[in-house]
Amino acid sequence: MNASGCDKLFPMNEKLPITGLTAAELADFVESHGEPRYRGRQIFKGMYQRRLRSFEEMTDLPKSFREKLDAIASPATVTVESKYVSEDGTRRFLMKTSDGLPVEAVFIPTEKRDTICFSSQSGCPLKCDFCLTAKLGLLRNLTPGEIVEQIVIVLNDVYGVDTETPHGTNLVAMGAGEPFLNFESLIKAINVMSEEQGLFIVPGRITVSTAGIVPKIHEFAKLEKRPNLAISLSAPTDELRDRLMPINRRWNIHELMNAAKVLERSLKRGERFTFEYVLLGGVNDSDDHANALADLLERYDLRRVKINLIPHNPAEQLDYFPSDELQVESFKLTLESRGVSAYVRRPRGRDIYAACGQLAAKEEPNLVKITSGARAA
Ligand code: SAH
Repeated sequence: MNASGCDKLFPMNEKLPITGLTAAELADFVESHGEPRYRGRQIFKGMYQRRLRSFEEMTDLPKSFREKLDAIASPATVTVESKYVSEDGTRRFLMKTSDGLPVEAVFIPTEKRDTICFSSQSGCPLKCDFCLTAKLGLLRNLTPGEIVEQIVIVLNDVYGVDTETPHGTNLVAMGAGEPFLNFESLIKAINVMSEEQGLFIVPGRITVSTAGIVPKIHEFAKLEKRPNLAISLSAPTDELRDRLMPINRRWNIHELMNAAKVLERSLKRGERFTFEYVLLGGVNDSDDHANALADLLERYDLRRVKINLIPHNPAEQLDYFPSDELQVESFKLTLESRGVSAYVRRPRGRDIYAACGQLAAKEEPNLVKITSGARAA
């Protein structure tokens, strides 16, 4: 996007949101306003290396320039509405776009490393039967800037403004929305986040999850620099998957497996990809289902794959319940006995509606809420 294009998109009286611009695009922007290009790099560093959210704080810029910028551009558009902290340390951030739509991100600490789960859309258009986000419907696609800002907001809350991000912090595009229905913005956001002069979170530390938008998996497989991929499968047959994930009626398991095979062929040495499988008690969690899943992988000769088993996170509006603990174990062992790597993803932040499939912009007064600004214990 060049700056004159921006001017057309954003009328005179509205400030240009600049959080989704690369360092080079920011240089173009300042240049079009008669400033030297290096000022663009300074702003980029201010926004992403120091994670400042106002021009005022960027004191390496002349005051007059900061004031000028303030009149025409915005370095922060997403605001935090509320924050919920789970008993397991997970934090859910309910944010709002400048037009008032919900955006949710989750911080998940573990002993080894921290993970930030971010959203690609406000709401979600897919109607997965076991997912609470589906109940919101699609509100709209998020812009690259709105995607990047989620990460900045969470990092600032957890580690503090102007601090270094601990090495090894991972990102997962597993919040609200279907990332591959907002493909361009997602990839743009990942490019902005990976710049060395900024957040410097490289694609290798990012995992994107798709419900199976087949043409986009093919497009993704052609990308040179790309994140890791997870595909939500959750059923080994069309009959069952049609019911659980209606997107299967558009692209069925055969098309999905073919796309997965293309992706597998494009992996670099040592890389693998993931199938996610939500375990729904009595619905898709029997040993027969596990065997059918292993058969499916064999049929398409998929070897560089691991299965992430996600115990269902229940909610009042959902008609499913979690599998029996023993059955989770049995499902995993059945896969392993067939030579398939399987891991059980332990639920995090269930008590604050922060776990997989629970992001539905919930604002419950009885949840432990810590309003923005305050640090969690
Ligand atoms: N739309 C993308 C990104 C969302 S990721 C996708 O579907 O992959 C969210 C993950 O949580 C998906 O694997 C989804 O299948 C899973 N999920 C949805 N609802 C869930 C629930 N109630 N319990 C556990 N996992 C759920």
